Amino acid sequence: MTSSLRNLVLVLGDQLNVDASAFNDFDPQRDAVWMAEVDEESTHVVSAKQRITVFLSAMRHFAAALREKAWTVHYTTIDESDNDGTLCGELEKTIARLQPEKLIMTAPGEWRVLQSLRQAAATHQQELEVRDDTYFFSTVRDFAAYASGRKQIRLEYFYRDLRLRTGILMNGKNPIGDKWNFDSDNRGSFGKNGPAGLAPPTRFAPDQITQEVISLVNHRFAHHPGSVERFGWPVTRSQALTALECFIAYRLPQFGLYQDAMWEGEVWLYHSHLSSALNLKLLNPREVCDAAVKAYHDGQVPLQAVEGFVRQILGWREYVRGIYWTQMPNYLELNSSNAKAALPDFYWTGQTDMACLRDALTQTLQHGYAHHIQRLMVTGLYALLLGVQPKAVHQWYLAVYVDAVEWVELPNTLGMSQFADGGLMASKPYVASGKYIDRMSNHCKGCKFNPSESTGDKACPFTTLYWDYLNTHADTLSKNPRMLMQLKNLNRLTDEKRSLIAEQAFKHRSSVT
Ligand SMILES: Cc1cc2nc3c(=O)[nH]c(=O)nc-3n(C[C@H](O)[C@H](O)[C@H](O)COP(=O)(O)OP(=O)(O)OC[C@H]3O[C@@H](n4cnc5c(N)ncnc54)[C@H](O)[C@@H]3O)c2cc1C
Ligand code: SF4
Repeated sequence: MTSSLRNLVLVLGDQLNVDASAFNDFDPQRDAVWMAEVDEESTHVVSAKQRITVFLSAMRHFAAALREKAWTVHYTTIDESDNDGTLCGELEKTIARLQPEKLIMTAPGEWRVLQSLRQAAATHQQELEVRDDTYFFSTVRDFAAYASGRKQIRLEYFYRDLRLRTGILMNGKNPIGDKWNFDSDNRGSFGKNGPAGLAPPTRFAPDQITQEVISLVNHRFAHHPGSVERFGWPVTRSQALTALECFIAYRLPQFGLYQDAMWEGEVWLYHSHLSSALNLKLLNPREVCDAAVKAYHDGQVPLQAVEGFVRQILGWREYVRGIYWTQMPNYLELNSSNAKAALPDFYWTGQTDMACLRDALTQTLQHGYAHHIQRLMVTGLYALLLGVQPKAVHQWYLAVYVDAVEWVELPNTLGMSQFADGGLMASKPYVASGKYIDRMSNHCKGCKFNPSESTGDKACPFTTLYWDYLNTHADTLSKNPRMLMQLKNLNRLTDEKRSLIAEQAFKHRSSVT
């Protein structure tokens, strides 16, 4: 039987760009689009309500925009009675029904999804063409070539290479400002009075489509974590562009200096909140970097802020994607310290006496958002010091953030935050005591614990577990020159102090459920 449908273009929830490579030769007369909402994508990790809402609402808006162009979209909603619940199952049904000549898609962001769609196509002996994702500066092949033969794959030189190749913030072969890296200028904390003159966050009132999704999510995923009461994320391209414009005008000038700082109850600070729009492809990373660089050339933003921002997108974002695709599927199983503890229950409720964790967890569950240092040096640090199994930590991060997609979440969690890859990504474990959190925030001022104390009733659990971590892993860590200073400080502690710390750490661990 000959098909009347030439190409069926598969569009996933994080591929919402009409200029995607999959659409390069799209002919609305002969081709159609396939999109499916399925339970599996919200339940393979029990996703937070904010995250599910972002994805479903953005998908529905995108499908509506394509239909406005008179494109044919075969779209399955999650509550259709015969919805199979899996991407693979839904695709197989569509192939059998439409019998397209060919399936085309842009490379998906997740290894699991690629395997399952390939499987569905193979079952029906259906050709599937997977095209490069052009919403990245580099390809996975570029990264693989860069990484080939290296034991450790560090960000810095990969980032410089990309600066050279793209010409972003470059003066010929030299970086603008004659420095590649302004990290040391970008570690400011707020003074006693906290952040000053913060612009209100750019939030978007839910329209009818989003309201329908919110009520669906509240009903269908009632038992999922978090709340969707205060939903305001961009779910369309035009909202994403507004969010970008507001960030450049009101937050970017202070972004660099206060990139690592935290303040109780202040969710948004000077960050961009663009990660979900970028990951869903509502924004192209090129236009985001171009807008920041233009603000610098127009004299609106200091170089340290723009370089700090570009480094996150041109550097870290590209780098973690390369790590993910060159290391999967084995990466998912790595656990270099053989950590076995369960993730504490309070990660799903925010109910803990530790003020820094309570603040980061509460805003995460309310908004699906925490900035990088909250993720790395509060929630991530505590899990690392407690010895939580990395896979459980990964599943939590993948579940709770609106920007969570595995290609970016997994390397950040397993490699950068939990050091579970033994140093492939990070040159040392990101470990610190409560004093680091005290320096970068005001959390400790309102906490029942004291960041300077490692034993006794007021001992800060971060500080106790930090020394205990160093003590327990001292042999392995001593092989890492970047840990020598921290180990030197450990060696200053008396044997008696060390055993009191071990006792206190044991007590703390036993009290965490
Ligand atoms: C344990 C852990 C898990 C993380 N999981 C995710 C995730 O699931 N999805 C995600 O997009 N980011 C993740 N990150 C990276 C980073 O924390 C978020 O991108 C950032 O907090 C998003 O907020 P923002 O848009 O305000 O970022 P900004 O601070 O304004 O930074 C600008 C942009 O740079 C990019 N970026 C910044 N840091 C990183 C990074 N380390 N890796 C990749 N891109 C980066 C993001 O696209 C971000 O929007 C994770 C970090 C850690 C430590
Ligand atoms: S004292 Fe410790 S637990 Fe309390 S806020 Fe400070 S770092 Fe967090």
